[in-house]
Amino acid sequence: MEEHLKGRDIWHPDVLNAFLKVPRHLFVPENLLSEAYEDYPLPIGFGQTISQPYMIAYMVQALEPSKDLRVLEIGTGSGYTTAILAELFKEVYTVEIIPDLSERAQRILKDLSYDNIFFKIGDGTEGWEEMAPFDRILVTAAAPDVPEPLKEQLKEEGILVIPISKGFSDVLYKFVKKDGKLKGEELTYCSFVPLRGKYGFGGSKW
Ligand code: SAH
Repeated sequence: MEEHLKGRDIWHPDVLNAFLKVPRHLFVPENLLSEAYEDYPLPIGFGQTISQPYMIAYMVQALEPSKDLRVLEIGTGSGYTTAILAELFKEVYTVEIIPDLSERAQRILKDLSYDNIFFKIGDGTEGWEEMAPFDRILVTAAAPDVPEPLKEQLKEEGILVIPISKGFSDVLYKFVKKDGKLKGEELTYCSFVPLRGKYGFGGSKW
């Protein structure tokens, strides 16, 4: 894992340590175990994927993690990114639209004894209003644009990292909230499954 990340603009020591600590093979379906530590996305069922480690590291580093901050994750998926976030933040709030995926992730993460992760099954484009505002927000599926509720639920000076679909490709953005407005910066090209839901590409059911 170290060799996929080090020297490829992942420099943050805490981020590197989190990747060394979290056992990726526990999140990967059994028939793909031999590929658990390769640097590419893997299918986890329901047409969804466990993201590529390098891309997760890149996104998490862009969030500027710190142990005194609360982060909202949209797209629990396998729960792998959730575990990495739990190593780096005080509390992780994670929302997944496919119930079976959330339940599978909840089982794995409970077995790993994380006590700072809170799960919700539902449409993450609506955010998690009861728990807002958040210091950081990470979206792990490609959106048509930044969902309005996520803008509102981000704290002033907070950071939002989100892939936005541009037709030919997805582009990863980092937004910082200043004076109530999001200021964006393009980080890199990337490829994610589409974000569903009200402020995504539609469709609440799989
Ligand atoms: N980061 C995860 C996987 C990302 S795949 C991992 O490492 O395993 C993206 C996930 O986002 C999928 O599980 C998909 O079901 C979920 N998703 C898509 N649209 C969503 C929405 N509107 N709300 C919550 N989750 C959503």
